[in-house]
Amino acid sequence: MKITDLKCAIIGQNPTVRITTDAGICGYGQAESAKPYLKPHVLFYKQYLVGEDPTNVERVMLRIRRMASFKPWGSAVSAIEMALWDIAGKAAGVPVYKLLGGKVRDSVLVYNGGVRFPMKGHTPEDYAENMALMKASPEKFAIIKQAIGFHSGMAGKVPDFFYGEVVGGAPHGNRGLLTERGLKHVIACVEAMKSVLGDEVGLALDCGPGWTVPDTIRLAKALEPYNILWLEDTVNGDYNPYVLADVYRDITLSTSVPIHTGEQIYLRQNFRELIEKQAVNIVGPDPEDVGGLAELKWIAEYADLHGILMAPHGVFDGLIGLAGLVHAAAVMPQNYIAFEYPLGKPDWWYEIVEGLPNPIVQDSRITVWDRPGLGVELIPDKAEKYLRDEDRDFFDG
Ligand SMILES: [Mg+2]
Repeated sequence: MKITDLKCAIIGQNPTVRITTDAGICGYGQAESAKPYLKPHVLFYKQYLVGEDPTNVERVMLRIRRMASFKPWGSAVSAIEMALWDIAGKAAGVPVYKLLGGKVRDSVLVYNGGVRFPMKGHTPEDYAENMALMKASPEKFAIIKQAIGFHSGMAGKVPDFFYGEVVGGAPHGNRGLLTERGLKHVIACVEAMKSVLGDEVGLALDCGPGWTVPDTIRLAKALEPYNILWLEDTVNGDYNPYVLADVYRDITLSTSVPIHTGEQIYLRQNFRELIEKQAVNIVGPDPEDVGGLAELKWIAEYADLHGILMAPHGVFDGLIGLAGLVHAAAVMPQNYIAFEYPLGKPDWWYEIVEGLPNPIVQDSRITVWDRPGLGVELIPDKAEKYLRDEDRDFFDG
């Protein structure tokens, strides 16, 4: 089998990859909805793919993997990797999880990072009210993640929140020492959320990046009585193209609250220091940034050897990305916690794919399906009307 073409259409906001072959089998992959600008980057790799056998996934990846980087520039390679597995699974007549080593679990736990209701403000009451809505969501999420501190609007909206100057431009650019008032405000918001969740639903907190080490330790120590599931990306993370493993290790050793990072990191090599130094308790690579499904599985295995847990990022990964996450999560060792559940946006995404369960999430779990490949297909007749003019040939070939 040989690859004949690599296409990329921006459907909704998600760059969607379609690889065609001379055997009439095609494979789909996807990049985050936050990255509609990726199309030319995806197409750059076409010259290295055409003519290759897509079922030798690793051999194909060796041709392109080096030509990428931390978020957002690992996304194109990651989406291509996912599409290669889709083809390999379809060609073999087996679900992707079989090719990744076989499933360890029949259903996978997901956490809520994307089912959201508008926040009225940033007071503790606002956080409590919003958390009550998420707790009542029909997916019955076992874990809910909420943004606080520099990952939320607090830096610009809460008076005297920190000593730095508010930075505009790309999201989450603020960094600096919190005022005592700012730190107390964050803690009060977390307490308000916990008062809603009790011990029925776990609370994870996406915090930064931008926290200083002392503020992170002060926050973590104050939250120790609340059994928070994890503090994500405090000093570093998100879109920062570096790791800071030593800084994270100081924080992790200072508190019993689990420390989490990794959504921006590309490739296993860039997780090495974080894992070998046991610098965090939980890693959260995103399959659409880290280099794909096999890369994510490898990192889960290596983390497990070092006593580190796994909670993959995924909120913007779209419905094809959701399928990839289900297969990858099915094969991870028992250090797997849950992945961040992505939504189809706009809503019509649910009409243009087939193969997902209905409802998708029940009691915070998704049952692993057995259809070949990723097991989720775009329906050309229904999807065509949402294609941009420049992508009219997306389903050809
Ligand atoms: Mg995050």
